[in-house]
Amino acid sequence: MAKKYDLVIVGGGPAGLMAARVAGENGLKTALLERRKTITSTRRVDGGGLSPINEYICGEKLTFNPKVKRIGFPVNGFSVRYDGPYRDMYGFRIFSPSGKMISFGDYEQLKKDPEKNRVGIALNKGALLQGLFKDAQAAGVEIFPDTNVTAVETGENSVKVTGNGKPFEGSFVIAADGINSRLARLMSMNKDRKFIATMVDRVWNMEGIDLPQIVGISFVVTDYGNFFVSRVCREGNYHVGVSTYHPGDDLEGKLNKFVYKDPVYSHWFKGAKKTEEHACVVNLLSPIQEPFKDNVLFVGDSAWLMEISNPFAIICGWKAANAVTLAVLDGKLNKEGIASYLQWWEDKFYVPHGQVEFKPLHLHDYLDAEAIDYLAGLVKEPLISTMNFYKLFSTIGSTYAELFPVIQEERPDVMKKLMDIANEMDEIETKARKAGFPNR
Ligand SMILES: Cc1cc2nc3c(=O)[nH]c(=O)nc-3n(C[C@H](O)[C@H](O)[C@H](O)COP(=O)(O)OP(=O)(O)OC[C@H]3O[C@@H](n4cnc5c(N)ncnc54)[C@H](O)[C@@H]3O)c2cc1C
Repeated sequence: MAKKYDLVIVGGGPAGLMAARVAGENGLKTALLERRKTITSTRRVDGGGLSPINEYICGEKLTFNPKVKRIGFPVNGFSVRYDGPYRDMYGFRIFSPSGKMISFGDYEQLKKDPEKNRVGIALNKGALLQGLFKDAQAAGVEIFPDTNVTAVETGENSVKVTGNGKPFEGSFVIAADGINSRLARLMSMNKDRKFIATMVDRVWNMEGIDLPQIVGISFVVTDYGNFFVSRVCREGNYHVGVSTYHPGDDLEGKLNKFVYKDPVYSHWFKGAKKTEEHACVVNLLSPIQEPFKDNVLFVGDSAWLMEISNPFAIICGWKAANAVTLAVLDGKLNKEGIASYLQWWEDKFYVPHGQVEFKPLHLHDYLDAEAIDYLAGLVKEPLISTMNFYKLFSTIGSTYAELFPVIQEERPDVMKKLMDIANEMDEIETKARKAGFPNR
């Protein structure tokens, strides 16, 4: 017979752990099921960027206070501990094949006052999860590591999930099982979602270098791939990665070429040692508009297109557990009980960002190196300092929209290629969908 809880949480990432902590602190009888043996273990390349800070996004403005080791969520009114190493991040940069740079923010100015000007920090995700885990434990949550949930059964005002053959029953279940959520699939939540592409990433951790050019996350566009180089919390270490929407691409070969042979960029990595490598494959599905069905509430990456990010997964966990708490206290064990979460999701996530069309486009497939260099060279002044990905795309879009008359005048051939890309967008999307494997 299943043990009965107010709330069963599936997944012990930032969303699930935060939900567990809050539900436990609020006095709910709570279980957390996580398939990993060690809940707070992360692959090192799992990304420890915390951004954007000091800037509103999705209704929140994150803060970080190293003196008291806390990350603040002042709009939502809570904070989480972070007792680990960190490095300041000052924004995005985009580099062209020949080394031209578009900078978000003027680093020389910004670095004079890190407390005020940093727009993100690189942190250790394991340490972040450790803090949440300890708080959830202290709040009396029953935590079941090494428990892989494989089945879900819904009843009237309750849900039963099965992990490793053992049943757990909750008045509510929070599905915080991450991108390409199994619970979403089992509960047919994906049938109205649009399959966009299969994205494959390959990331190396490089150690023993100092890259003054990299002050946050930098994207390097070459004519053979789009790379990123990111600051991480450990001094002298960077993540170097490449991604594709063509799963057959030889990403390892591309990284080898970029790091060891690229005539412009390989000098960045001289003397560096590759200490770790990882691959990540995800199917990109459009976000879920109403992430709730039969008392299962989908939070964090499980309801989003791809990476909702660590801080926003935490906010989802916070909001969801508080909504479930009120539903239980008010005896409304149904959709009405958690309606405040759904409204918040709609207002702060789905409407502003969930409907933005994601374009699975690699510029180098359509423009040669010379054209990309020309376009990069047009942006002479630093753009707004940000580590908000939504703002990155909108700023690039508006900056180049203003430059279109110049491009038309100076380089009608490049303008024509840009127009061709816009006109061929349907085909580009179809190609990416066909190259993917949605039923994986
Ligand atoms: C390579 C990479 C780099 C990234 N870099 C950054 C970054 O720098 N900054 C940032 O903010 N974000 C980054 N992200 C995104 C960030 O990691 C996610 O948005 C965030 O972790 C989402 O949290 P979550 O709790 O919703 O899901 P997850 O963190 O994915 O947690 C889901 C948990 O559920 C567990 N689980 C899954 N299925 C089951 C099951 N059936 N039964 C039991 N347990 C299950 C998983 O083991 C996992 O622990 C990165 C992501 C990737 C892949």
